[in-house]
Amino acid sequence: MKYLSCGCCGAGFQRWKGYVDQDQDKGFGICADCQAWIQGIENKQLDKLAAEIQSTLNTGNAAKFAAMSPEIRREFAADAIAKGLVTFSFKHDRQATG
Ligand SMILES: [Zn+2]
Repeated sequence: MKYLSCGCCGAGFQRWKGYVDQDQDKGFGICADCQAWIQGIENKQLDKLAAEIQSTLNTGNAAKFAAMSPEIRREFAADAIAKGLVTFSFKHDRQATG
């Protein structure tokens, strides 16, 4: 087991089974609380985008899309971003680059 400091909130934490390396500096990672927090924000953004996508569909397709699970709707929204169909940026704690 390996101990890391959370690069987000600063808390020390122990890596858990299945922990995904967050590409942080050596000795740093993202703790479970912060991962859940970030995921929650992303989900909210994707839910909002999914609702926007749904509003552009015709009635039949909108009903089909509305019946999909939140996870599939989020995947669809994330896919639309990845394919460049929509441009989108997350607005939380972005560090200045360049
Ligand atoms: Zn944290």
